[in-house]
Amino acid sequence: MEKDCIFCRIVHREIPAYKIYEDGLFFGFLDINPRVVGHSLLIPKKHYQWVYEVPEFKQFWAAALTITRAMQKTLSPTFVTYVTHGLEVSHAHIHILPRKHEREFVPAPITIPKKKMEEIARLIGSAV
Ligand code: 5GP
Ligand code: ZN
Repeated sequence: MEKDCIFCRIVHREIPAYKIYEDGLFFGFLDINPRVVGHSLLIPKKHYQWVYEVPEFKQFWAAALTITRAMQKTLSPTFVTYVTHGLEVSHAHIHILPRKHEREFVPAPITIPKKKMEEIARLIGSAV
């Protein structure tokens, strides 16, 4: 746990998040500044800076696939894309973007009301 890391604080429930997934190693939640409906982040519970430093690299991506399947069942995306930027938050994370017609590499942020965020999180979370 890095005390100044916002994602470590989310894992430890010090900061609220719209949770979609959790297992022994990983935690999934909606991005607070979504770029598509259902824009999610998957992180290791333990702090590593980069995705390629996560020892359970295969399980990390397997969990991303589990979330993708849940999105396919509940949000009917046309396709799903992944990015692992880490330019803003230095706690390894996979962005999971269930897309409809957004074809930009990084779509512009959209505004989703709190109630809808809760509903999206509940939908995805119910299908993992
Ligand atoms: P990156 O590090 O991949 O460039 O960007 C970090 C991502 O984390 C951004 O998409 C940003 O919206 C998201 N983010 C930053 N702080 C928080 C937070 O406190 N809660 C949630 N759910 N997402 C966050
Ligand atoms: Zn961290």
